[in-house]
Amino acid sequence: DAITVADLAQKLAMKGGDVVKALFKMGVMATITQSIDHDTAVLITEELGHKAVAAGANDAESELLAHAEEVQGEKQQRPPVVTIMGHVDHGKTSLLDYIRRTKVATGEAGGITQHIGAYHVETPKGVISFLDTPGHAAFTQMRQRGAKLTDIVVLVVAADDGVMPQTAEAIQHAKAAKVPLIVAINKIDKSDADPSRVKSDLLTYEVVAEEFGGDIQMVELSAKTGQGVDDLLDAILLQSEVLDLQAVFEGRATGVVIESALDKGRGPVATVLVQQGQLSKGDYLVCGIQYGRVRALFDENGTQVQVAGPSIPVQILGLSGVPEAGDDFVVVADERLAKDVAQQRDTKRRELRLVASAGNRMEDILAQMGEGSSQQLALNLVVKADVHGTMQALREALTGLSNDQIKINVIGSGVGGITESDAQLAATSKAAVIGFNVRADASARKVIDNNGIDLRYFSIIYDVIDQVKQIASGVLGKEV
Ligand code: GDP
Repeated sequence: DAITVADLAQKLAMKGGDVVKALFKMGVMATITQSIDHDTAVLITEELGHKAVAAGANDAESELLAHAEEVQGEKQQRPPVVTIMGHVDHGKTSLLDYIRRTKVATGEAGGITQHIGAYHVETPKGVISFLDTPGHAAFTQMRQRGAKLTDIVVLVVAADDGVMPQTAEAIQHAKAAKVPLIVAINKIDKSDADPSRVKSDLLTYEVVAEEFGGDIQMVELSAKTGQGVDDLLDAILLQSEVLDLQAVFEGRATGVVIESALDKGRGPVATVLVQQGQLSKGDYLVCGIQYGRVRALFDENGTQVQVAGPSIPVQILGLSGVPEAGDDFVVVADERLAKDVAQQRDTKRRELRLVASAGNRMEDILAQMGEGSSQQLALNLVVKADVHGTMQALREALTGLSNDQIKINVIGSGVGGITESDAQLAATSKAAVIGFNVRADASARKVIDNNGIDLRYFSIIYDVIDQVKQIASGVLGKEV
């Protein structure tokens, strides 16, 4: 957790000597090659951060805001943006491929659809955009970065296999993000397909089909033969109408990066999804910590286009560097502003990264959640256990600790080790993770470390309850 003064200075884009001086003022003697501990690093960052950002700091950003506000105008219906999730091998890729193959308008003869991270289809009833990286890893990563792109989740469940662990995970992720679900019951061409079992299995997860009195649309289909796929597209458009998705179609564009790469010949390329306004060739833009002028736009067929409107993905060329997936972009009037904002963000982002690792301890989460809201505090937990019975018992006992001052939400639970998906759910929902006789795997630990998530291991149920109780009491300042 320690960091050398030189590294810290680099992260802060400052001279090493200046950091040494600042440390000295705080009473810490350290040379440039020496390490300081995590807490000191955070303290000094805040100390310097204030100064570093203070002078004329937020000017560019507020100028940008003023710009963004100009993107006001009449709102119109916009196409929905869909992410496909589900258990491995249930047919997510096949479904995306089938839809792309049969529904994407290939402009000129011989147009071959390319993978740019998303595509849009034009049906007689309306337009739909699909993010074509299936699975919830991409979905949660984006959300973690604050990008709320997905309007509807299509949950693919194979009719011959039924609800599986990753099906349950996908449900938890969609629910945590408050994104509505449509269930695609896939592989109905198979002889052992049993769609009604899928529907009744889903009841356990409070995903209730319309025929059972719920409000979740379920479509039976085959990604292999294409049977039922049109019904799915209809269901998506119907859900989209209910959601009443709107955007301004004129003016400078804003949106989010879906995918990016450094292309040998073409330089930085990014696929962006426009959320408001119209993105045009020649526009100046800030994109995360990058900036540039749109040199060219390409659709999913690799065809050059002049403009792209809301919910439409396009690949753009002309950025100063490679932005990250989840970065936002804003079109601005001139290059100077684009450059200023990008540089300021760069400095800020370095600082934030450093401070972010200060942690999401249960105590902190609890205190943060209470701020501003009603008197009731909330604590989100992800609970994983080795056996089903224990998991259930823990869920009930923890939820049962809730009273009018504190609410314990078990937002995710399951049997088995703590996975990357669990960790991401915790990160996006500001939750602590509890492992009962199970451990976090390497990829989960990485997410946990990067996000400073509070992870605790237990092997005695009483200890779990006792510790959560103690923490809650500590924050509340009285017995729970
Ligand atoms: P993913 O892991 O969810 O992306 O699943 P894939 O799309 O890779 O599909 C897994 C396997 O199921 C592949 O062998 C597909 O050919 C097959 N598959 C997918 N959809 C269907 C379907 O509707 N019917 C049949 N019979 N096989 C399917």
